[in-house]
Amino acid sequence: MASAALRLPENVPGDFFVDSTCIDCDACRQIAPGIFTEDDDVSIVSHQPETYEQTKRAMMALVACPTGSIGTIEHHDAHIGIDAFPELIAENVYYCGFNAESSFGAWSYLIVRPDDEGGNVLIDSPRFATQLVKKIEAMGGVRTMLLTHKDDVADHERWAGKFKCERVMHDDDGAARHGVERVFTGQEAVAIDRDLTAIPVPGHTRGHMVFLYQNKFLFTGDHLAWSPNRNSLIAFRSACWYSWAEQQRSMKRLLDYDFEWVLPGHGRIHHDSAANMREALRDCIDWMKTR
Ligand code: SF4
Repeated sequence: MASAALRLPENVPGDFFVDSTCIDCDACRQIAPGIFTEDDDVSIVSHQPETYEQTKRAMMALVACPTGSIGTIEHHDAHIGIDAFPELIAENVYYCGFNAESSFGAWSYLIVRPDDEGGNVLIDSPRFATQLVKKIEAMGGVRTMLLTHKDDVADHERWAGKFKCERVMHDDDGAARHGVERVFTGQEAVAIDRDLTAIPVPGHTRGHMVFLYQNKFLFTGDHLAWSPNRNSLIAFRSACWYSWAEQQRSMKRLLDYDFEWVLPGHGRIHHDSAANMREALRDCIDWMKTR
């Protein structure tokens, strides 16, 4: 729960506020960009919600905030935010909300599919929050859990315990240690099922993988994201824990694939044609050489 006593003085006056426990994960700014902005490595409320829709977006940010750093002075029905998750992104792909602090607020996603098409897939781990668990249960549960890398595993054990799902992760990021059921090795891409491919992309961590769904949705963990500032794709040089040179090689290998969506753990989501995404990926590869 956010504390009014810790309210950042940079917030505009009014109902919603961010307190000093903010870890600058960017989730609120992405969910409600008209309400929250960045200010010196924290988020602040720069515009108080005025309409129902703006209040709903602010409440969704409050629910998603991994550190409970967003608060209100007035009482609001929390279900305005809670019930909005999982939030549809496109087709059968959802953003889970309920970002986990242990993964520094990384975003997680849900693919909803009939059982005969492979069943539902959770990509990286949201907080194991009762309200979200019930919603996902009502949407068909989780058959498979894809873990991009070791930083974003959060509550994976509790999700696996609840839904008896098969977890997928690379051995070089400690999959065996985490008790993962399907452990990948090496650097060859592997088909998980007809529509899903696991692509090892060492760099950010040694065992990082991205997951491609239907040659359209690329779940990128901390390997690749969209940057509004660059208006292009980026990788995170200052958060590259294993090898920047290796990450550049991994990025080049992604040129072999078509995708229209980039769905990262950190950084911004982006959608464009496969041709424009490939162009942005080439631009990213060139830009990485300068970092
Ligand atoms: S979601 Fe929470 S932790 Fe993340 S930037 Fe916003 S206030 Fe800070």
